Amino acid sequence: MFPDPDSQHFDDASKHGRRVRNFRHERGNWASYVYAVFHPQEEFGEMLEEVIYAARKHGIVLTKMEEFHISLSQTVIFRHHWIKPFVQSLRERLCSVNRFLCVADQLKVYVNKEKTRTFLGLEVSTGHQQLLDIVSEVDKSLQEFNLETFYENPSFHVSLAWCVGEVTKPLQGTCLLELQKVVDEFEDSDVLTRFYADDIFCKCGNKIMSIPLH
Ligand code: AMP
Repeated sequence: MFPDPDSQHFDDASKHGRRVRNFRHERGNWASYVYAVFHPQEEFGEMLEEVIYAARKHGIVLTKMEEFHISLSQTVIFRHHWIKPFVQSLRERLCSVNRFLCVADQLKVYVNKEKTRTFLGLEVSTGHQQLLDIVSEVDKSLQEFNLETFYENPSFHVSLAWCVGEVTKPLQGTCLLELQKVVDEFEDSDVLTRFYADDIFCKCGNKIMSIPLH
């Protein structure tokens, strides 16, 4: 009748900077999502520090993401025995997809569905169509398991930093223009914001499976 205290715990957001879960962790349930990885060069970190510093001058304290990626699904809950067949389904769907160039250079503000967290991200300006094609395949695999598909009009992005609550208004407008200027004027920013999507990853709980592109 009551939940077994050993098999459930409330999520500790400090342990995974990127998302506040809107569900309880339960044994047998695996929080899962599909994404492409962005491995930044060292100077990208310096550029990000400057962006965060500029935001602070507007009274907005942002925390840097621990890793950088482009989400290709929402976070969905798998039962453990779904992991293998889901990844297999995705492998088959993506087996003929070629690696492609992504450029993520346009700052944009995102809020999670629960409106508990605001993200500053770099939106993709090159690679959008290829990402849409991949999401359409990911969505088909998700539908096989009756899971929620991705945004109908996705805005593909690399989240850079976040803060708690909905902070859209103070970040947008003049502040965002100034932050974009920091990015645009940073030395070699055009090089730092481009990368090849070589693999698609599926993370289920603490397991990470990769699907290489050609
Ligand atoms: P991510 O770093 O990929 O987890 O994205 C940060 C947040 O952006 C997530 O909580 C998403 O729900 C949110 N988001 C809001 N609008 C969109 C959109 N149109 N496309 C993709 N992500 C979005």
